[in-house]
Amino acid sequence: MYAIIVHGGAGVRKIPKDIQEQREKVLRKSCETGAEVLAKGGHALDAVEEAVKVLEDSSLFNAGTGSALTLTSEIEMDAAIMDGSTLKAGAVACIRNVKNPISVARKVMEKTSHVLLVGEGATLFARKMGFEEYDPRTDYRVKQLKKYFKEWLEGKLDFYRENLEVAKLYVKEPGTVGAIALDKNRNIAAGTSTGGFVLKLPGRVGDTPIIGAGIYATNMGAAVATGLGEAIMKFCLSFRIVSMIENGLLPQKACEKALEELTLRFGRNTAGVIALDKHGNLGYCFNTLGMDMAYRVHR
Ligand code: ASP
Repeated sequence: MYAIIVHGGAGVRKIPKDIQEQREKVLRKSCETGAEVLAKGGHALDAVEEAVKVLEDSSLFNAGTGSALTLTSEIEMDAAIMDGSTLKAGAVACIRNVKNPISVARKVMEKTSHVLLVGEGATLFARKMGFEEYDPRTDYRVKQLKKYFKEWLEGKLDFYRENLEVAKLYVKEPGTVGAIALDKNRNIAAGTSTGGFVLKLPGRVGDTPIIGAGIYATNMGAAVATGLGEAIMKFCLSFRIVSMIENGLLPQKACEKALEELTLRFGRNTAGVIALDKHGNLGYCFNTLGMDMAYRVHR
């Protein structure tokens, strides 16, 4: 048996139909790419990395190419990967100018004693590991920043309101992805990658590379989150879900319970999650308008 589940971020805005169809196609491709690795007897870590790379390489998601821009129009990406069997994990935060942050996160896990590298240190590490300089910026994101910045100043966006004052010191004018796989040898691995939130302050790190918040995996199950990192981190969302799975809850029930509690504390439009246990049971839940996903279970 093997299983894989991938997501393309929890969205709060309606996506045009043609773009939505393209996104679904890429998500299916990501899922199939991971499933092919698993079908050949490959390791869950390889399946997760390959599945996330497909999503990072598509400009339709907020990860890798097409990542959201910071307030100062930069791209700073976060990513993490975790091996459920060994609890080994690797992550990068605020990394710049690389094509696949998920692969750099895997190198942190496999080639260093550390778990998380940030900013210039993360980018320098990527270069030392042979990752070439790459500009993940897209025209769509540049336009989006201008539009959102205006709406934000007018008070039409309900996130990062407390930043409005400090934001003026920076500028005068101005969908995350994840995967969890279970391989034929019962290894579970999880991976996640994001450009973060549009309009974030430079240097801001979200939940994605924080072990226990945006990602967690053990040999019993794994969870990966998406949404407003500031809420997800305070709630340690992924760790809670995996704990519930370890205590006997099915992933679907665990996702629903955790999301219900998170929504009570932080309101709607804050998070989405996917989860998988060692028996190949899947779970997902979101309190946003939607969350694109694809999965495949082979018994
Ligand atoms: N959770 C990510 C962050 O806050 C963003 C997302 O999931 O879309 O950086």
